[in-house]
Amino acid sequence: MAKKFKSQYKNRPTKPEHEMEEFGSGKKGLILCPKCKAAYFGKAWHHSEVNFKGGEDAPVKFMLCPADAMIKNKQYEGKLVIKNIPKEAAEEIVNLIGNVAESAFAKDPMHRLISLKKVGNDLVGLTTENELAVSMAKKIKNSHKKSKITISYSDEPADIAVAVVEF
Ligand SMILES: [Zn+2]
Repeated sequence: MAKKFKSQYKNRPTKPEHEMEEFGSGKKGLILCPKCKAAYFGKAWHHSEVNFKGGEDAPVKFMLCPADAMIKNKQYEGKLVIKNIPKEAAEEIVNLIGNVAESAFAKDPMHRLISLKKVGNDLVGLTTENELAVSMAKKIKNSHKKSKITISYSDEPADIAVAVVEF
């Protein structure tokens, strides 16, 4: 199960992780996302390049980060579906999702809530990371004990988690 929770960026053609590994590893190069200003160095994405120690002559490359590439390609790794939300709980649930998204993003700039929409009677959220949708569902379950959650995964074509919360 633990494997399922891991983001599998490397399997996506839109995410040239290999290129990033080579370019952004060690102290040599820096990759900047023109969309969100995230910076890739030392084998990880950061919110900015402020902590980059490569020096002023380090090569810089501009490339969409995996999260923005995913959004551009209308992809996602996590889907949260909330059914039959009681009217009085709607606002609280939306806030809760926002809070989980915010703290996930603060920890890792690649972990994002892509969208949150009302689809018919459901609320549907898409995330760049499968674990994020799952933890949103669990948070909702925690504050609404009577709701039921179901989590499922699809391996193909991508590692997508679908977390359904039903009231
Ligand atoms: Zn970006």
